[in-house]
Amino acid sequence: MFYDCIVVGAGPAGSTAAKILSQCGYKVLIIDSKAFPRVKLCGGCVSAKIIDYIPNIGDLSEKIAFKAILSYKKSACLSIESTEPFAYFVDRKVFDNYLLESAVKSGCKFENEKLIALSYDDTMIEVYTSKNHYKSKYLIGADGANSTVRKILHIKPKFTIKTLQGKSNTLIDYINVDIGFGKINYYWSFPQNQACGIASPKKNINKLFYKYYKTDDVFDVKGYFIPIAFSKNNLGKSNILLVGDAACLADPFSLEGIYNAIYSAHLAAASILSFPKNPYEAYVCLASKILEGNKYSYYISQIVAKFPYFVFSKLSKGNESVLADYLKGAKSSKDLFWLLLKNLYKKTIK
Ligand SMILES: Cc1cc2nc3c(=O)[nH]c(=O)nc-3n(C[C@H](O)[C@H](O)[C@H](O)COP(=O)(O)OP(=O)(O)OC[C@H]3O[C@@H](n4cnc5c(N)ncnc54)[C@H](O)[C@@H]3O)c2cc1C
Repeated sequence: MFYDCIVVGAGPAGSTAAKILSQCGYKVLIIDSKAFPRVKLCGGCVSAKIIDYIPNIGDLSEKIAFKAILSYKKSACLSIESTEPFAYFVDRKVFDNYLLESAVKSGCKFENEKLIALSYDDTMIEVYTSKNHYKSKYLIGADGANSTVRKILHIKPKFTIKTLQGKSNTLIDYINVDIGFGKINYYWSFPQNQACGIASPKKNINKLFYKYYKTDDVFDVKGYFIPIAFSKNNLGKSNILLVGDAACLADPFSLEGIYNAIYSAHLAAASILSFPKNPYEAYVCLASKILEGNKYSYYISQIVAKFPYFVFSKLSKGNESVLADYLKGAKSSKDLFWLLLKNLYKKTIK
C-alpha cells in the first residue's frame, strides 16, 4: 500500500507530525509497536512554553506547578514562586493517547505494527513491519530513544543519559531539583504521581539513586536512557526525517524531551509541506534553533557537574526571576549559560 508519509512511533513527536500532515491533505500512516493507550516511563513535566503548541494543556494536565525549589545536597534551598505556571504535569498514558486520537481524527491511519526494516532511495521508501509491507514518499522516524529508524540510517547519539525514576511516599506540591551531588544532571521530585528520579551520564546510577533517596521511601523504581546529540546529522537523511528522541533532541541539561519532540515534529512536517523536493535540508535549517539551544544546555550540564555549589549559590543570589523564566521556558539555555559564565568569570578575576 502506498502512503505520502509513514510515521514510525506514536509518542508526542509522531502523533504531532501525523496530525499536521493529515490536516494538510497528505495520506499518512502512523505505526507503533505498542497498542494504545500505552505506558511510558516519564516524569510528565512539560514547561509552560508548550502552550504555544497545545493551548488546552491546562485541561490535559493532572497537576500544574507554581512553585519550584532548587536545592543543594538537600539542605540549602532556593524557593521560587510565580502566579503563572512553571510547568504542567501530564500522565503520559492519557496525554499520548489524546495526541494519537487527535491525529487519527485528522485523517491518518493508525496500525499497531513494529518497524522491522527499511529500504530507501531518493524517490521511494519501502517499509517492512511485523505484519505488512508499505511504500511511501516520506518517512518520519519518531520511534523514541532506542529508534530503529535511526539505527537503520547508521546514526548514533553523541552520548546517553541514564535515568532511574521511582515513586516516593513523601508527597510534595512543588518541583524539587537538587544539583548538590556533582557529576550528575540532577535529582528530581515532582508533585505528580509521586515521581522522583535521577539523571546522570555516569554508569552506576543505582548507587547514586539510593545515596539520595531512602530505600524505604521509594518504590516502583525503573530505569531507561535518554539519547543526546546536537548535530544536524542526527536529523535524518533525504526524505527520512528524525524527530523527538529518535533525533536525540531532549534538552541535555533539563532533559525535558516532550517539548522538543512536539516542536521538532512541527518543523519536520513544515519541511515536508514547504520543501517537498528536499525536506531534510529545510529541516536542518529550521531545527538549528533546537540544536543551538541544546548545545548551550550541554555546556550548562558540564558546569553543574563540575561546580554544583557555584551554580547553586550564583542562581540563589538575585537571579530568582531568571531562574523562574528559565523554568517556564521564557528564558533560553543560552541566557542561563551566559549568566553562569559571567559569574564564573567575575569569580576567577577576583
Ligand atoms: C525516566 C524519564 C523521565 C523523563 N521525564 C521527562 C519529563 O518530566 N518531561 C519531559 O519533557 N521529558 C521527560 N523525559 C523524556 C521524554 O520521555 C521523551 O523525551 C519523550 O517521550 C520523547 O517523545 P517521542 O515522541 O520522541 O518518543 P516516545 O514518547 O518514546 O515515543 C516513541 C514511540 O515509538 C514506538 N516505537 C519504538 N520503536 C518502534 C518500532 N520499531 N516500530 C514502531 N514503533 C516503535 C514506541 O512504542 C513509542 O510509543 C523523561 C525520560 C525518562 C527516561
